[in-house]
Amino acid sequence: MAYEVPPLPYDYDALEPHIDEATMRLHHDKHHQAYVDKVNGALEGTEHADAPIADVLRNLEAIPQDKRTVVRNNGGGHYNHSLFWEWMSPDGGGEPDGDLRAAIDDAFGSFDDFKAKMKEAGVNQFGSGWAWLVHDGSGLAVVSSANQDNPISDGRTPLLGVDVWEHAYYLKYNNRRPDYIDAWWNVVNWPKVAEGLP
Ligand code: MN
Repeated sequence: MAYEVPPLPYDYDALEPHIDEATMRLHHDKHHQAYVDKVNGALEGTEHADAPIADVLRNLEAIPQDKRTVVRNNGGGHYNHSLFWEWMSPDGGGEPDGDLRAAIDDAFGSFDDFKAKMKEAGVNQFGSGWAWLVHDGSGLAVVSSANQDNPISDGRTPLLGVDVWEHAYYLKYNNRRPDYIDAWWNVVNWPKVAEGLP
């Protein structure tokens, strides 16, 4: 079955005032839909058409070369945004606890140090991309990626990501990407993030 945009797990305006309704409508209904339509078009009729998108991205080398870039960009767009909606919640914010908090403290020294590193990765990502909290097999790390590349294609497990494409913040925050990232912490769904711990 072709991929579909999953419904938002909350209302379009539920993340206000941190993430505005107009951005959520465009981002979910238009941008995410476009990624889905394009990856479906690229994989239609191939043996990969029914594969879970994470499996496709884990092994991009298996995609025919003439379709690989389209699948990488748009399949990545589909997977990244499907995760991103779930990593946010109107009940989000605050600080993680339990095993996730222990792993963050272990890797970064403190929650504040982790947040600073994630923000730095997002602010310094030149052009469009994402900043990620990943598990690399031995522990947690912060990385950034260009375009719609997902760490899963490098063998890492994404636990949390922040979309720093201009379409994610420009309507409300204009060119102020750091302010968007500061506000975004208020909607991070830590219990959902913790589910990704291996
Ligand atoms: Mn986006």
